[in-house]
Amino acid sequence: MTSDPGAPVTPSGPTGHGDAPVHAAAAAGVVDASKVYGSGGAEVRALDEVTVAFDRGRFTAIMGPSGSGKSTLLHCLAGLDTLTSGAAYVGDTYLASLDDAALTELRRTRIGFVFQAFNLIPTLTAEENIRLPLTLGGDEGDREWIDTVISTVGLADRRDHRPSELSGGQQQRVAVARALASRPQIVFADEPTGNLDSTTGGEILEFMSSAVSDLDQTIVMVTHDPVAASFADRVVFVADGRLQSEMDDPTSDRILERMKQMDR
Ligand code: ADP
Ligand code: MG
Repeated sequence: MTSDPGAPVTPSGPTGHGDAPVHAAAAAGVVDASKVYGSGGAEVRALDEVTVAFDRGRFTAIMGPSGSGKSTLLHCLAGLDTLTSGAAYVGDTYLASLDDAALTELRRTRIGFVFQAFNLIPTLTAEENIRLPLTLGGDEGDREWIDTVISTVGLADRRDHRPSELSGGQQQRVAVARALASRPQIVFADEPTGNLDSTTGGEILEFMSSAVSDLDQTIVMVTHDPVAASFADRVVFVADGRLQSEMDDPTSDRILERMKQMDR
């Protein structure tokens, strides 16, 4: 997809550096983003000129087949990987303008992550895991907020359990609560229900969607599952590293239909 000068997500400033607000309503986004892995004959263009913005207070799903560049996009948005060209921003901050220390601080305080593998520390309790990103920064966090998150994810009576004493779904709830603990500007989730059965996955998705509607959080979730994507407010479709289309208020049937059209 080439960048559309009429699109509201396109900033007027240069891509790459600077700190001007890009788009007041956007929690994060990328502009003309390309990512190339390898070189020469082994070159893989994982992202190809992608421009997309993610609005505050919404739950967006990034949907596409395996290898379409979903994880690459999420990692570049979250400052876990860098673009080959183009710009990624969180709020009014271009990630490329930050040094390592500032990027680490931004990831710790303004971004939350949920991965397919829950990535909990086995020796810590549920509550200690949830508080860990704050503790690591010598930060107590907002106690009332963390209590709200813990009770909203339904872990109030599991605070002192270690991961091995929790079900897979409960462990992923701990991971989601951990991502929300700092009250980040945006949460990125990469296939968060990929290791869960559909019932348990549905519970996690319900919670994520209530974190957006009830706790006013912003979530961007990568998935290849139309049912998972249907929990979102908006679906962005990618294929071959390019943005294909998008859909508001999706249902799993409409998503499936769109996927079939994309295959043609
Ligand atoms: P998705 O998450 O949609 O399955 P990815 O973003 O993981 O897709 O990958 C997009 C493309 O980039 C794939 O062709 C993948 O093989 C390639 N790729 C991803 N990460 C790397 C890497 N670290 N080195 C080389 N190629 C990579
Ligand atoms: Mg992936």
